[in-house]
Amino acid sequence: MAARARYYDGKVALAREVTLRPASHELIILDAASSSVVARWPANELEVLGDTEHEKAPPVVRRGDDSRLVIEDGELRRQLASAMPPLAALGKPRPSAAPRIALFGATLALAVGLFWLTVEIGSGYVAPFVPYDLQRKLGESVAGDLIGQQPLCQGRAGLAAINGLANRMAKVAEFPHPVSVRIVKGGPINAFTLPGGILVFYSDLIDRARDGNEVAGVLAHEMGHVTHSHAIKGLVRQYGVDQLLRAMTGGFSDLGTVGQGGSLLLALRNGRAFERDADATAVELLDKLGLRADGVARFFERLMEDHPTDMAGLIGIWSSHPPTAERIAATRRPPTGKPAFSDAEWTALRQVCAGTPTPRQTPTPRPRKPD
Ligand SMILES: [Zn+2]
Repeated sequence: MAARARYYDGKVALAREVTLRPASHELIILDAASSSVVARWPANELEVLGDTEHEKAPPVVRRGDDSRLVIEDGELRRQLASAMPPLAALGKPRPSAAPRIALFGATLALAVGLFWLTVEIGSGYVAPFVPYDLQRKLGESVAGDLIGQQPLCQGRAGLAAINGLANRMAKVAEFPHPVSVRIVKGGPINAFTLPGGILVFYSDLIDRARDGNEVAGVLAHEMGHVTHSHAIKGLVRQYGVDQLLRAMTGGFSDLGTVGQGGSLLLALRNGRAFERDADATAVELLDKLGLRADGVARFFERLMEDHPTDMAGLIGIWSSHPPTAERIAATRRPPTGKPAFSDAEWTALRQVCAGTPTPRQTPTPRPRKPD
């Protein structure tokens, strides 16, 4: 049986199973069941979207058209790449971590190289072995530190909507644990991920979003951090396994010292590589669920206009740097697919903080700025 791909026509949300026939001047898209021609895309109008270096199945589009093709099959992608020059990017193998580390170590000063080697291998290797219930306890403790006295929103339907979507994403990502999304009333416009699948959203972010797809985009990005265990890797990198294990086994009061001096915030800042991986996973997850994936880039674009400068702004979606033009380009998608939230869910989510008291003027004893 010929390898198949998914075709979205840009009008209805449903994906269609298709087979592809590359020719010198066009790509012929055929219905997988009936073999009837679905579309013919001229070769000179073909484009591969997204981050071809890091994303498994970057979509293929016809320029100026809302339809798109998603080709999960590696062999088919390779065939297309060699048969049609505009699709050459599909043939690029995703670099694995090992050669990148080797290259890094070989080309940089030895000391720097060794330091990063330890971090990369150390955190990548150790993190999955930190038992999940310990990660969860650690996450809860950190959440307490970071959220402080700011009230959590209690709207049941809104929380169900965002938690439902987050756990559907976890499922398609084959992430084996439940995740929990909390919404803090107020600002900044931010969201971040803690160990143990704990996601924190500020209601100002939801207020600022133009529609549910933008919130879903940010959620998908944070789920990228969850599925790659970025938060626990960051903590392991910052404190080392020994100190973390001591904190975990010796009672969580020890983590109070971990939180002092803003080092906790530093540990939770995601570097460029983590952000890129989370971005790529975000669009992949939305796509797997058949949801609109244009919210990621759209929200990033608007966030570039203004960004927070306070401590909470140092982590989460802002992290070590604001969304760049490069990240926006890598996550840009056509506005096709199902909306992430139904109208009722989106209404509930926007009202999730109704009835929650507004935080006082100086609600959060945040850790002081790192020196
Ligand atoms: Zn991020």
